[in-house]
Amino acid sequence: YLELKGIRKTFGDTTVLNDVDLSIREGELITLLGPSGCGKSTLLRCIAGLTELDEGRILLGHTDIGRLPPRQREVGMVFQSYALFPNLTVYENIEYGLKMRGEGKAARKSRCEELLALVDLEEKRNSYPQQLSGGQQQRVALARSLAVQPKVLLLDEPLSALDAKIRKSLRTEIRDIQRRLKMTTIFVTHDQEEALTVSDRICIMNHGNIVQDGTPEALYTKPRTEFVARFMGSYN
Ligand code: ATP
Ligand code: MG
Repeated sequence: YLELKGIRKTFGDTTVLNDVDLSIREGELITLLGPSGCGKSTLLRCIAGLTELDEGRILLGHTDIGRLPPRQREVGMVFQSYALFPNLTVYENIEYGLKMRGEGKAARKSRCEELLALVDLEEKRNSYPQQLSGGQQQRVALARSLAVQPKVLLLDEPLSALDAKIRKSLRTEIRDIQRRLKMTTIFVTHDQEEALTVSDRICIMNHGNIVQDGTPEALYTKPRTEFVARFMGSYN
């Protein structure tokens, strides 16, 4: 459904993505797991169109979206630090993308109500971001990225700024929402436990490449390299 073919990206002399191939089935949640600097965010940004790729193709269904402007890609993204608009309320943050797309007021209202219910923030609709907890802010960010009904959702360490307890409950919540919507999702994390609990499939990344991918069980029990074993916590 989403297929990356031969993705390359260099910044100056540094090759950050070195011929990445990856396919994701419709409705699947895959995790990119790998050390800091291995290229996870860059890969997501290339898919979203926030960073231009040097080479390669990004097929969504039968369309190559790799050179389209971000808004035409039908890809939603949530960042590590909540990139909400501080001067807009929860409701207005969620509504923003719909307004940009020129949706009418009634359509915006019904979509926003749906999303507020989905992330369970109906009571906070008139609050501003700084009046919310980190977990609530990430739920707004999730609702905002889902508002325009993307075909693919990219989550770049959406939980890493949160404390351990909220992180665990929110990851379950995100997984439930993802299943309910059958949303094709790429979830980036450093945290192997998080990867093990939420993923249909895990891709281990190192130095701009995917070194092994498979189900959580397969990676945990049959790591192909020591690096993968270490990352999956197979050695303890
Ligand atoms: P982390 O887990 O720390 O978020 P990451 O896997 O997301 O790491 P990236 O942010 O994709 O890593 O960065 C990969 C490499 O590309 C790093 O070495 C980084 O310094 C470099 N890089 C990223 N963006 C740029 C940029 N705009 N200009 C130059 N180098 C960059
Ligand atoms: Mg990153």
